[in-house]
Amino acid sequence: MSTAENPPLPSRAGGPMRRLRCTRHSEREAAACCAECGLPFCRECVSEYEGRLLCAACLEKIVANAKADADGSNRGLFALTANSVKRAASLAAGVAWLWLCFYLAGLLIEKLPQSVHEGTVWAQAAEEALGEE
Ligand SMILES: [Zn+2]
Ligand SMILES: [Zn+2]
Repeated sequence: MSTAENPPLPSRAGGPMRRLRCTRHSEREAAACCAECGLPFCRECVSEYEGRLLCAACLEKIVANAKADADGSNRGLFALTANSVKRAASLAAGVAWLWLCFYLAGLLIEKLPQSVHEGTVWAQAAEEALGEE
C-alpha cells in the first residue's frame, strides 16, 4: 500500500514548484516548502509533523518547543489556570442559574395568592372578551 505520489503541498511561494531546488541539495528538485520557514526542500529533507511538512531544522525546533511545553513551562501553567478558571466559571453560572430559578419560583408562589385574591385582571379580560362578542 503506497501513499499518494503527490500529497497536497503548501503553496506558500505561489509559483510552480518544479523550478525550485532543494535548499540543501542544489541538484535536486524541491518537493515541498517547509511550512515553518517557507524554504523549498527535496523529499528527503522534509518530514511530516502533525500534518505539516517541515525541514529538519524547523522540525527540531518545534519538537524541542513541544518538549519544553510538556515539561511544564509557563504556557502549560497558564493553560492549567485557564482551565480551572473556566471550570469554576461554569460551576458558578450553574449555581447562579439554579438560584435564579428558585428565587423566581419563590416570588411567583409568594405573589400568586395575592393577585388571585385582590386582582381579577384575567377575569376582567375574559369578561371583556366575552362582552365584545
Ligand atoms: Zn524550515
Ligand atoms: Zn534536500
